[in-house]
Amino acid sequence: MGEFELIDRFFRRRGRAPRDGVALGIGDDCALLQPAAGMQLAVSTDLLVEGRHFLSTVDPRRLGHKALAVNLSDLAASGARPLAFTLSLALPAVQETWLEGFAAGLFALADEHGCELVGGDTTRGPLAISITVFGEVPAGQALLRSGAREGDDVWVSGTLGEARLALEVFRGTLVVEAPVFEAARRRLEEPAPRVALGQALRGLATAAVDVSDGLLGDLGHVLRASGVGATVDVEAAAATMAHGGAVEPQRRLECVLAGGDDYELAFTAPRSRRPEVEAAAGSAGTTVTRIGVIDTEPGLRLRDAQGRAVPGRYGSFDHFA
Ligand code: ADP
Ligand code: MG
Repeated sequence: MGEFELIDRFFRRRGRAPRDGVALGIGDDCALLQPAAGMQLAVSTDLLVEGRHFLSTVDPRRLGHKALAVNLSDLAASGARPLAFTLSLALPAVQETWLEGFAAGLFALADEHGCELVGGDTTRGPLAISITVFGEVPAGQALLRSGAREGDDVWVSGTLGEARLALEVFRGTLVVEAPVFEAARRRLEEPAPRVALGQALRGLATAAVDVSDGLLGDLGHVLRASGVGATVDVEAAAATMAHGGAVEPQRRLECVLAGGDDYELAFTAPRSRRPEVEAAAGSAGTTVTRIGVIDTEPGLRLRDAQGRAVPGRYGSFDHFA
């Protein structure tokens, strides 16, 4: 099977009207996007490399899902609505069942979010997947990392730490019961990007980031960009972890604070807007938890529920560290 037959068979979807905002999709030299009047394009890209970001044994359907999910999570953190994406693939060989599974997982999530595949590139090489997503957001209303202010609450969506728990089990450094592992593994392999929540937080959150490299590391980006610090109640954060009781308290803290691959949103909002944040989360079908407060002193201070300082360093993932 040649390159063009492969694209045609697995990635070009016939007989579908293009979504609004997409003027031209796959097949020409460029795709053409047409955001609605008054909207800005939000653009983000991610590269997934076998052995680095996923294991060779991962179910291709789940891999297709995750490759797009991590990009949609960036749109969510910006408060953008997904429009379209491109897909660049390096494949060691054409394996039809692998490609079918990958495409099925990819398109299932794409359709859930009305995000259309509009182009890409396909080449032979060690397995790697790069997706670029395009979303739209009313001009000037994107959520940024730089808007957190003293006195704001720090919030996280959903649950944290399960992806790391699954990774530890895969590595053989943790043992849990089979149903706990299965649930955690789904969080690792099929994360649900918080796209609806991100949009609901426009005009409400003062800053936002998606949690991909670990809560404290990603929150640190917000603090530096905003020129502020924060005090975080680590027990409130740890309590979000589903099946957190399956691991000892110190491991739970590590999973929640530094685990990564959660694809939840961490965001800040003024204290006066708590009811609106709760309502936004309700309308988006996501839980949110208050885990701390922004202060003026730079850096992160960790406290337990009684307000006592919690020692320890919880680094985040860095490919070149
Ligand atoms: P070019 O040589 O101009 O880069 P290609 O011949 O590589 O174009 O691709 C032909 C068409 O197929 C283009 O519209 C391109 O965007 C699309 N395409 C290539 N690979 C993929 C892919 N993996 N998924 C979706 N579209 C793809
Ligand atoms: Mg090309």
